[in-house]
Amino acid sequence: MAGQKQSALLGHSFQELRVVVEEFGQPDYRARQLFEAIYRQRLATVDQASTLPQSMRERLKSSGLEIGLPKIEKRFESIDGTVRYLILLADGQSVETVWMPEGDGGEAGDGSDSGPEQETASGATFDRATLCVSSQVGCAVNCQFCLTAQLGIKRNLTAGEIVGQVIAVLNDHRVDLERQRMNIVFMGMGEPFLNYENFIKAVRLLVEGVGFSESRMTVSTAGIVPRIEDFGKETIRPKLAISLNASNDEVRERVMPINRKWNLAALLGAARRFPLRNRERLTFEYVLLEGVNDSPQHAREVVSLLQGIRAKVNLIALNSGPGISFNTPSDICVQSFQRLLIEAGIPTFVRRPRGRDIYAACGQLKRTVA
Ligand code: SAH
Repeated sequence: MAGQKQSALLGHSFQELRVVVEEFGQPDYRARQLFEAIYRQRLATVDQASTLPQSMRERLKSSGLEIGLPKIEKRFESIDGTVRYLILLADGQSVETVWMPEGDGGEAGDGSDSGPEQETASGATFDRATLCVSSQVGCAVNCQFCLTAQLGIKRNLTAGEIVGQVIAVLNDHRVDLERQRMNIVFMGMGEPFLNYENFIKAVRLLVEGVGFSESRMTVSTAGIVPRIEDFGKETIRPKLAISLNASNDEVRERVMPINRKWNLAALLGAARRFPLRNRERLTFEYVLLEGVNDSPQHAREVVSLLQGIRAKVNLIALNSGPGISFNTPSDICVQSFQRLLIEAGIPTFVRRPRGRDIYAACGQLKRTVA
């Protein structure tokens, strides 16, 4: 109907679609078809859902229901193959999603590069890629080294908007999930654990609907301790990464104000209690800031903090940006920090910055337009 406000089917669980289908007086199996059309076939409009009778599609549309896949507003491509997307949401806000062919060595946690790129059956030229997905418009956590913090928090994303980013980018690359290895990291704009319900719902839709495996997803938190506890109880859950970023409370308070609410003792306590699965490790991310948290003494403090935790560490040299008053340490400094941790028995990897030239690297997501 002209002028009628549209509402999105994307983000509905299978149960919620059953209710919709029932309201339309349709048989139950239509809910499964609709679910498949939205998530597995990744269609953009109800019109394309050819498994549904034409009459049902018309009725869905005329009552203001659409799939509601978010649109790609802009696309920036880096010399290293990374693509940064601005994704337009229904209310005119936008978020960023990053596509990294071959990942950044951090998402698998083993620091490995994939082998040479292969031509796949669908004609795409990658065999492995990682998507970095946003959970909020802006962020409330205010980490002093992160550009997203400068936006403040605008709002939470809905589950549909979180899944929508993934689908829009998968479609842009014509990804066939049965043939291509894809990882998701919830490490874009926002703090996933401050939008917990929508984040978890999105995870379920990605697993049960789109077809991702939970072992190929990682969520990163700045350290929202009560949600770490909740997360450990989820039956379907990604792997957990914790942004440590400092080796003592004094430094951590300075760089991550959230540390005043949940200090290192609280955070590491939750980490120690976290129920890891077979062979699973907790990832700790550590942004190296020159002269602030990057000395050998800091490395030794990290070692003692992580004692007794089945952990690995991802080191990230600061990606700097306008308004960030920290400096990036030298490669030599990064390497000696890494060596100290490795010598203490902690698997430690250095994440390659991806897409720095297009403001797509960690901590650079600020909806930069050019
Ligand atoms: N809010 C979540 C996820 C988003 S940040 C969290 O804090 O974990 C994702 C990762 O990028 C975090 O480990 C964060 O510490 C890191 N990061 C933020 N700003 C950065 C920067 N300027 N350079 C390098 N890494 C940065």
